[in-house]
Amino acid sequence: MSGLRIRKNDTVIAVAGADAGKSGKVLQVLPARGRVVVEGLRIVKKCLRKTQDNPQGGIGAKEAPLSLCNVMLYCPECKRGVRVRRVKEGDRARRQCRRCGHAFGG
Ligand SMILES: [Zn+2]
Repeated sequence: MSGLRIRKNDTVIAVAGADAGKSGKVLQVLPARGRVVVEGLRIVKKCLRKTQDNPQGGIGAKEAPLSLCNVMLYCPECKRGVRVRRVKEGDRARRQCRRCGHAFGG
């Protein structure tokens, strides 16, 4: 279940590591690896090989996946990372902030 608490396009906040306290939008979820790629978090510099597209080579910046353990869903009402509760709504499960009851999409 922990693998399902965060989804693409959620806003999350990093709670550990170099980017702790920063938030961003989830670009990609890698459930098999328990990782997420978050816009603006854990940027790594990558040396680029010289290719036809990029004949100069050089350095690019790219988001690296970070562990799901290190991010929490960001609640816009609590203005902090929160735990969520899953609430059954018909045949769908909604996610709700445990602190204020804010309903997250999806
Ligand atoms: Zn909340």
